[in-house]
Amino acid sequence: MYARIITKKNPPKQYKKGRVCKKYGCAKRLSVYNPEQYCHVHRREFQDKLE
Ligand SMILES: [Zn+2]
Repeated sequence: MYARIITKKNPPKQYKKGRVCKKYGCAKRLSVYNPEQYCHVHRREFQDKLE
């Protein structure tokens, strides 16, 4: 998988730095490019509960 090409004209959306997963007890840091409030593992867990 290739890295996304980033141009100055069209920068990727970034979110707050230093965010961590909202799941209690999880201190996993989230990427500034991750729009979710949970880390990868807990995001899936959260979505499973909604469905
Ligand atoms: Zn988490």
